[in-house]
Amino acid sequence: SVKIINLTKSFNNTNVLKNITIDVEEGEFISLLGPSGCGKSTLLKLIAGLLEVDSGDIVFNNESVINILTEKRGAIIVFQDYLLFPHMTVYENIEFGLKMKKVTKDIRSKKVEEILNLVKLKEHKNRYPSQLSGGQQQRVAMARALVLNPRILLLDEPFSNLDINLRNEMREFVLSIQKRLNITTIMVTHNKEEALTMSNRVAVMLDGEIKQFDTPKNLYENPNSIEVANIFGERN
Ligand code: ATP
Ligand code: MG
Repeated sequence: SVKIINLTKSFNNTNVLKNITIDVEEGEFISLLGPSGCGKSTLLKLIAGLLEVDSGDIVFNNESVINILTEKRGAIIVFQDYLLFPHMTVYENIEFGLKMKKVTKDIRSKKVEEILNLVKLKEHKNRYPSQLSGGQQQRVAMARALVLNPRILLLDEPFSNLDINLRNEMREFVLSIQKRLNITTIMVTHNKEEALTMSNRVAVMLDGEIKQFDTPKNLYENPNSIEVANIFGERN
Protein backbone atom coordinates (compact mmCIF):
# COMPACT_ATOMS: atom_id res chain seq x y z
CA SER A 1 0.00 0.00 0.00
CA VAL A 2 1.00 3.64 -0.47
CA LYS A 3 0.20 6.40 2.01
CA ILE A 4 0.94 9.98 1.12
CA ILE A 5 0.57 12.17 4.17
CA ASN A 6 0.41 15.98 4.15
CA LEU A 7 2.95 16.23 1.40
CA THR A 8 4.15 19.65 0.30
CA LYS A 9 6.61 20.72 -2.37
CA SER A 10 7.72 24.14 -3.59
CA PHE A 11 9.95 25.25 -6.43
CA ASN A 12 11.49 28.70 -5.92
CA ASN A 13 8.84 29.86 -3.46
CA THR A 14 5.99 28.55 -5.58
CA ASN A 15 3.93 26.01 -3.72
CA VAL A 16 3.37 23.29 -6.32
CA LEU A 17 1.93 20.64 -4.00
CA LYS A 18 -0.17 21.69 -1.00
CA ASN A 19 -0.85 19.20 1.74
CA ILE A 20 -1.45 16.16 -0.45
CA THR A 21 -2.94 13.18 1.37
CA ILE A 22 -3.79 9.96 -0.49
CA ASP A 23 -4.09 6.40 0.68
CA VAL A 24 -3.74 3.67 -1.96
CA GLU A 25 -4.53 0.08 -1.07
CA GLU A 26 -2.38 -2.90 -2.01
CA GLY A 27 -3.13 -3.92 -5.59
CA GLU A 28 -5.31 -0.89 -6.21
CA PHE A 29 -5.22 1.07 -9.48
CA ILE A 30 -5.76 4.78 -8.97
CA SER A 31 -5.48 7.79 -11.26
CA LEU A 32 -4.34 11.33 -10.67
CA LEU A 33 -6.53 13.42 -12.92
CA GLY A 34 -5.90 17.12 -13.45
CA PRO A 35 -4.96 19.83 -15.93
CA SER A 36 -1.47 20.63 -17.15
CA GLY A 37 0.72 22.17 -14.48
CA CYS A 38 -1.36 21.10 -11.47
CA GLY A 39 1.52 19.05 -10.04
CA LYS A 40 0.84 15.46 -11.15
CA SER A 41 4.33 14.59 -12.40
CA THR A 42 5.91 16.28 -9.40
CA LEU A 43 3.87 14.06 -7.11
CA LEU A 44 4.98 10.91 -8.97
CA LYS A 45 8.62 12.00 -8.78
CA LEU A 46 8.32 12.50 -5.03
CA ILE A 47 6.79 9.04 -4.64
CA ALA A 48 9.59 7.48 -6.71
CA GLY A 49 12.25 9.42 -4.82
CA LEU A 50 13.46 11.42 -7.82
CA LEU A 51 12.74 14.62 -5.90
CA GLU A 52 12.97 15.42 -2.20
CA VAL A 53 9.86 16.33 -0.23
CA ASP A 54 9.67 19.64 1.67
CA SER A 55 7.41 18.25 4.37
CA GLY A 56 5.06 15.35 4.95
CA ASP A 57 5.60 11.64 4.63
CA ILE A 58 5.41 8.83 2.07
CA VAL A 59 4.78 5.36 3.44
CA PHE A 60 4.99 2.07 1.51
CA ASN A 61 3.58 -0.95 3.36
CA ASN A 62 3.81 0.83 6.70
CA GLU A 63 7.41 1.93 6.19
CA SER A 64 8.37 5.57 5.65
CA VAL A 65 10.44 5.82 2.48
CA ILE A 66 11.35 9.50 2.33
CA ASN A 67 14.90 8.75 3.46
CA ILE A 68 15.26 5.73 1.21
CA LEU A 69 17.13 6.08 -2.08
CA THR A 70 15.20 5.76 -5.34
CA GLU A 71 16.84 2.47 -6.28
CA LYS A 72 15.84 0.90 -2.99
CA ARG A 73 12.26 2.16 -2.89
CA GLY A 74 10.76 -0.16 -5.45
CA ALA A 75 8.54 2.45 -7.06
CA ILE A 76 9.20 2.84 -10.77
CA ILE A 77 7.94 5.53 -13.13
CA VAL A 78 7.13 4.81 -16.74
CA PHE A 79 7.36 8.21 -18.41
CA GLN A 80 5.27 9.43 -21.30
CA ASP A 81 8.28 9.76 -23.59
CA TYR A 82 9.62 6.40 -22.44
CA LEU A 83 12.91 6.89 -24.36
CA LEU A 84 14.14 3.43 -25.21
CA PHE A 85 17.84 3.07 -25.98
CA PRO A 86 17.89 3.19 -29.79
CA HIS A 87 21.15 1.25 -30.16
CA MET A 88 19.93 -1.64 -28.01
CA THR A 89 17.57 -4.44 -28.96
CA VAL A 90 14.29 -5.05 -27.16
CA TYR A 91 16.02 -7.72 -25.10
CA GLU A 92 18.92 -5.45 -24.19
CA ASN A 93 16.61 -2.56 -23.32
CA ILE A 94 14.73 -4.75 -20.86
CA GLU A 95 17.90 -6.32 -19.51
CA PHE A 96 19.65 -2.99 -18.91
CA GLY A 97 18.17 -2.18 -15.48
CA LEU A 98 19.06 -5.65 -14.21
CA LYS A 99 22.65 -5.19 -15.38
CA MET A 100 22.82 -1.91 -13.48
CA LYS A 101 21.71 -3.79 -10.39
CA LYS A 102 24.48 -6.33 -10.96
CA VAL A 103 22.06 -9.21 -11.39
CA THR A 104 23.91 -12.25 -12.77
CA LYS A 105 23.58 -13.20 -16.42
CA ASP A 106 21.59 -16.38 -15.77
CA ILE A 107 19.02 -14.67 -13.61
CA ARG A 108 18.83 -11.74 -16.03
CA SER A 109 18.08 -14.05 -18.89
CA LYS A 110 15.39 -15.88 -16.93
CA LYS A 111 13.69 -12.66 -15.85
CA VAL A 112 13.84 -10.98 -19.26
CA GLU A 113 12.36 -14.06 -20.95
CA GLU A 114 9.57 -14.17 -18.37
CA ILE A 115 8.68 -10.52 -18.98
CA LEU A 116 8.96 -10.91 -22.76
CA ASN A 117 6.29 -13.59 -22.50
CA LEU A 118 4.13 -11.44 -20.27
CA VAL A 119 4.16 -8.45 -22.64
CA LYS A 120 4.01 -10.72 -25.70
CA LEU A 121 7.17 -9.46 -27.32
CA LYS A 122 9.14 -12.67 -27.49
CA GLU A 123 9.27 -12.80 -31.26
CA HIS A 124 10.52 -9.20 -31.39
CA LYS A 125 13.28 -9.50 -28.83
CA ASN A 126 16.12 -9.00 -31.30
CA ARG A 127 14.60 -5.97 -32.97
CA TYR A 128 15.63 -2.38 -32.37
CA PRO A 129 13.10 0.20 -31.11
CA SER A 130 12.91 1.90 -34.53
CA GLN A 131 11.65 -1.40 -35.96
CA LEU A 132 8.65 -1.48 -33.61
CA SER A 133 5.21 0.12 -33.68
CA GLY A 134 4.26 2.71 -31.07
CA GLY A 135 2.28 0.18 -29.05
CA GLN A 136 5.13 -2.32 -29.13
CA GLN A 137 7.56 0.37 -27.96
CA GLN A 138 5.18 1.21 -25.15
CA ARG A 139 5.14 -2.45 -24.14
CA VAL A 140 8.94 -2.51 -24.06
CA ALA A 141 8.83 0.51 -21.76
CA MET A 142 6.40 -1.33 -19.48
CA ALA A 143 8.55 -4.44 -19.59
CA ARG A 144 11.63 -2.46 -18.65
CA ALA A 145 9.85 -1.30 -15.52
CA LEU A 146 8.21 -4.62 -14.66
CA VAL A 147 11.40 -6.66 -14.95
CA LEU A 148 12.68 -4.81 -11.88
CA ASN A 149 9.79 -6.21 -9.84
CA PRO A 150 8.47 -2.89 -8.59
CA ARG A 151 6.22 -2.85 -5.55
CA ILE A 152 4.58 0.23 -6.98
CA LEU A 153 4.10 1.16 -10.61
CA LEU A 154 3.85 4.85 -11.50
CA LEU A 155 2.57 5.67 -14.98
CA ASP A 156 2.92 9.24 -16.24
CA GLU A 157 0.52 9.80 -19.15
CA PRO A 158 1.45 6.42 -20.57
CA PHE A 159 -0.85 6.50 -23.58
CA SER A 160 -0.70 10.09 -24.73
CA ASN A 161 1.66 9.35 -27.62
CA LEU A 162 -0.55 6.60 -29.03
CA ASP A 163 -3.37 6.92 -31.52
CA ILE A 164 -6.90 6.32 -30.29
CA ASN A 165 -7.24 2.64 -31.29
CA LEU A 166 -3.90 1.68 -29.89
CA ARG A 167 -4.70 3.60 -26.74
CA ASN A 168 -7.74 1.45 -26.00
CA GLU A 169 -5.77 -1.70 -26.63
CA MET A 170 -2.95 -0.53 -24.36
CA ARG A 171 -5.37 0.40 -21.57
CA GLU A 172 -6.69 -3.14 -21.49
CA PHE A 173 -3.21 -4.56 -21.76
CA VAL A 174 -1.90 -2.51 -18.83
CA LEU A 175 -4.91 -3.38 -16.69
CA SER A 176 -4.58 -7.08 -17.38
CA ILE A 177 -0.91 -7.09 -16.35
CA GLN A 178 -1.59 -4.92 -13.34
CA LYS A 179 -4.29 -7.32 -12.16
CA ARG A 180 -2.21 -10.40 -12.89
CA LEU A 181 0.76 -9.10 -10.88
CA ASN A 182 -1.51 -7.40 -8.32
CA ILE A 183 0.76 -4.38 -8.48
CA THR A 184 -0.24 -1.15 -6.76
CA THR A 185 -0.48 1.41 -9.54
CA ILE A 186 -0.80 5.20 -9.71
CA MET A 187 -1.45 6.58 -13.18
CA VAL A 188 -1.30 10.24 -14.14
CA THR A 189 -3.63 11.42 -16.86
CA HIS A 190 -5.57 14.44 -17.97
CA ASN A 191 -8.02 12.23 -19.80
CA LYS A 192 -11.23 11.99 -17.76
CA GLU A 193 -12.58 8.95 -19.58
CA GLU A 194 -9.30 7.11 -19.17
CA ALA A 195 -9.22 7.80 -15.43
CA LEU A 196 -12.84 6.76 -14.91
CA THR A 197 -12.72 3.56 -16.93
CA MET A 198 -9.41 2.22 -15.68
CA SER A 199 -9.29 3.11 -12.00
CA ASN A 200 -10.67 1.83 -8.74
CA ARG A 201 -10.47 5.41 -7.50
CA VAL A 202 -9.57 8.77 -9.00
CA ALA A 203 -7.83 11.68 -7.25
CA VAL A 204 -8.96 14.92 -8.84
CA MET A 205 -6.10 17.43 -8.68
CA LEU A 206 -6.32 21.15 -9.23
CA ASP A 207 -3.62 23.68 -8.57
CA GLY A 208 -1.54 21.50 -6.27
CA GLU A 209 -4.43 20.17 -4.24
CA ILE A 210 -6.51 17.01 -4.20
CA LYS A 211 -10.08 18.19 -4.55
CA GLN A 212 -11.69 14.78 -4.19
CA PHE A 213 -10.38 11.21 -4.04
CA ASP A 214 -13.19 8.83 -4.74
CA THR A 215 -14.64 6.05 -6.88
CA PRO A 216 -15.71 6.95 -10.43
CA LYS A 217 -19.34 6.45 -9.38
CA ASN A 218 -19.11 8.85 -6.45
CA LEU A 219 -17.30 11.47 -8.49
CA TYR A 220 -20.25 11.48 -10.87
CA GLU A 221 -23.01 11.19 -8.32
CA ASN A 222 -21.60 13.10 -5.36
CA PRO A 223 -19.04 15.66 -6.46
CA ASN A 224 -17.95 17.55 -3.34
CA SER A 225 -17.33 20.91 -4.98
CA ILE A 226 -18.26 23.03 -7.96
CA GLU A 227 -14.83 22.41 -9.46
CA VAL A 228 -15.25 18.65 -9.39
CA ALA A 229 -18.83 18.88 -10.63
CA ASN A 230 -17.62 21.01 -13.54
CA ILE A 231 -15.02 18.44 -14.50
CA PHE A 232 -17.50 15.58 -14.54
CA GLY A 233 -20.54 17.54 -15.66
CA GLU A 234 -22.01 18.00 -19.12
CA ARG A 235 -20.01 21.08 -19.91
CA ASN A 236 -16.73 19.21 -20.27
P1 ATP B 1 1.48 18.22 -17.26
O1 ATP B 1 0.08 17.65 -17.34
O2 ATP B 1 1.65 19.34 -18.22
O3 ATP B 1 2.55 17.19 -17.36
P2 ATP B 1 1.80 18.30 -14.37
O4 ATP B 1 0.51 18.30 -13.64
O5 ATP B 1 2.54 17.01 -14.48
O6 ATP B 1 1.59 18.94 -15.81
P3 ATP B 1 4.18 19.24 -13.02
O7 ATP B 1 5.17 18.81 -14.02
O8 ATP B 1 4.09 18.45 -11.77
O9 ATP B 1 2.73 19.39 -13.65
O10 ATP B 1 4.51 20.75 -12.65
C1 ATP B 1 3.77 21.48 -11.69
C2 ATP B 1 4.31 22.90 -11.61
O11 ATP B 1 5.63 22.86 -11.07
C3 ATP B 1 4.43 23.59 -12.94
O12 ATP B 1 4.07 24.94 -12.76
C4 ATP B 1 5.89 23.46 -13.29
O13 ATP B 1 6.31 24.54 -14.08
C5 ATP B 1 6.56 23.49 -11.94
N1 ATP B 1 7.80 22.69 -11.91
C6 ATP B 1 7.89 21.36 -12.14
N2 ATP B 1 9.16 20.92 -12.00
C7 ATP B 1 9.90 22.02 -11.68
C8 ATP B 1 11.28 22.23 -11.41
N3 ATP B 1 12.17 21.22 -11.40
N4 ATP B 1 11.68 23.49 -11.11
C9 ATP B 1 10.79 24.51 -11.07
N5 ATP B 1 9.48 24.37 -11.33
C10 ATP B 1 9.02 23.15 -11.61
MG1 MG C 1 3.28 15.91 -16.09
